Amino acid sequence: MRVTAVLKECVRQEVEARASPSRQRRLQSARLARLVARAAVRVPFYREAFAAASLDPAIVRGLDDLARIPVTRKLEYRRCPPGERLAAGVRPEDCRVEHTSGSTGIPLNVYLSEGEQAQRSALWLRARLRCGLWPWRRHLLVGYYQPPPVPWFLRRRRIHATAAEACAILGHFRPQVIGAYTSQLLLLAVELQRRGIPPPRPRVLRTGGETLSPAARQRLEQFFGAPARDFYAAVEFGLIGSSCPARGGYHLASGDLLVEIVRDGRPAAPGEEGEVLVTSLVAHAMPLIRYEIGDVGALAPLESCPCGNPFPRLAGLSGRSEDMIVLPGGRRASPRLAAIPFWENTSILQYRVTQRAVGEFEVEVVPDGPLDPGLADRVRSYFREHFEAARTDIRVRDRIDPDPQGKLRKVVVLASDGR
Ligand SMILES: [Zn+2]
Repeated sequence: MRVTAVLKECVRQEVEARASPSRQRRLQSARLARLVARAAVRVPFYREAFAAASLDPAIVRGLDDLARIPVTRKLEYRRCPPGERLAAGVRPEDCRVEHTSGSTGIPLNVYLSEGEQAQRSALWLRARLRCGLWPWRRHLLVGYYQPPPVPWFLRRRRIHATAAEACAILGHFRPQVIGAYTSQLLLLAVELQRRGIPPPRPRVLRTGGETLSPAARQRLEQFFGAPARDFYAAVEFGLIGSSCPARGGYHLASGDLLVEIVRDGRPAAPGEEGEVLVTSLVAHAMPLIRYEIGDVGALAPLESCPCGNPFPRLAGLSGRSEDMIVLPGGRRASPRLAAIPFWENTSILQYRVTQRAVGEFEVEVVPDGPLDPGLADRVRSYFREHFEAARTDIRVRDRIDPDPQGKLRKVVVLASDGR
């Protein structure tokens, strides 16, 4: 990938970000119509999907027609032969391949043309520059967080360590940026406190990979004395959103992406939770249109934001759609509801709610010091009231280990409603 291509992309994205909302909408509409027309002709998966939904691609002329396009179901998409996902004429050997095994357990290779690589790199670069994650700053990357490759001359300014190793390094390496999944960063704070090491004073904390609760944000920002910046990203799309410093949640990374929130097949109202669908308007090697990414979230009302970012804002992400709590009778509740007793509680370092069966929960907590004596009763009565829980076991742990990718799933649903 050429540096000039990335710089050109930066300029295009910057110019488009400053365009008026009506011009942005016109651009997006034109790109959506082109994407759908192209996918219908050149991508076997979409040719079949559109035919099965009796969609004539010619009627998709813009954003107003988005809801007519069938949703791309994650499982169905991953199960189809790889050749059917690629656009005709695209040679896999000319593409960069990114791999994800994801939560479905079915691996997916994402093919990116040179132009798409430049587009993604430019998005990340602009987002990093905006929030102080300047590449030349000294970075300490903790835990399993896998940073993208950096040029050789910056490698000495990147240290990748576990929480325990980081404590030893901090004597001679003063990081300006500390990056990690949220739970890893909390573990580092605890480890430093335990060893009596004064906290480093980075300029900025970079979190991601897990939902950042208000309690975790407050704790991290106070301990390290730096703002936490969070990103919403996925292998399928690259950067999707960057945290809003003024109102929380995530602004979309650019007008090249469309994010919809859908509930029971209809667009959700602002603030209303639903499944997140993402469309990349610029992915032509392997188009992804109304792709069910597997997260539950809500959009904020469309209004200008004091932070100055012109793009729509996701008010928040609540968790993964497969971790919707199962209620008696098969109804489902948002995973965010299960996290509420711990969301603002700064005396809890880590927690995990596991639904073992309908009406049966296990709640693991790692308290910061002695456990608040009223917590168990409050959690039990909350789970009884909201999830008709007949049984809620509370277990106090020293720590909760993340999954092999380094992320801590805070709500895990093992129960099934038989669907
Ligand atoms: Zn904002």
